[in-house]
Amino acid sequence: MRDDNCIFCKIAAGEIPSAALYEDEDFRVILDLSPASKGHALIIPKEHYRNLFDLEDGLAAKALVLAKKMTIKLKDVLECDGYNIVQNNEEAAGQTVFHFHMHMIPRYKGDKVGLGWHMGKLEEKDKEEILNKLK
Ligand code: 5GP
Ligand code: ZN
Repeated sequence: MRDDNCIFCKIAAGEIPSAALYEDEDFRVILDLSPASKGHALIIPKEHYRNLFDLEDGLAAKALVLAKKMTIKLKDVLECDGYNIVQNNEEAAGQTVFHFHMHMIPRYKGDKVGLGWHMGKLEEKDKEEILNKLK
């Protein structure tokens, strides 16, 4: 599966140059062009899937295992203090490239990476509504 208008299809296929950290039959891992921190990298499947909602199950599982392997290795290389794995789905959630990818963002003590959210309070009515609708 491929989308000829998709930049990540071209990057994953090696048709557009990128700083590739790793490649196998399913994925290419590259450095992000606009990194949130030094070493910010992206795991990109070679097949085109818009996002997590339509990603094939086998690739979804492999992507997380690959994130684990890459971050364990990169932690030593970058000498960072932690990692965020971030994955955006649809525009409302910050997705800008509509080809599934996972961000691996190294974290350094005291860095200014702006991930996070205002912590709300779990409302009883929201909790009941969600639990009931999921039944
Ligand atoms: P999203 O916002 O969709 O979760 O993330 C897209 C990411 O892709 C952004 O962090 C952006 O900097 C990165 N990006 C977009 N175009 C390119 C590109 O051509 N090359 C590389 N290496 N990164 C890109
Ligand atoms: Zn694509």
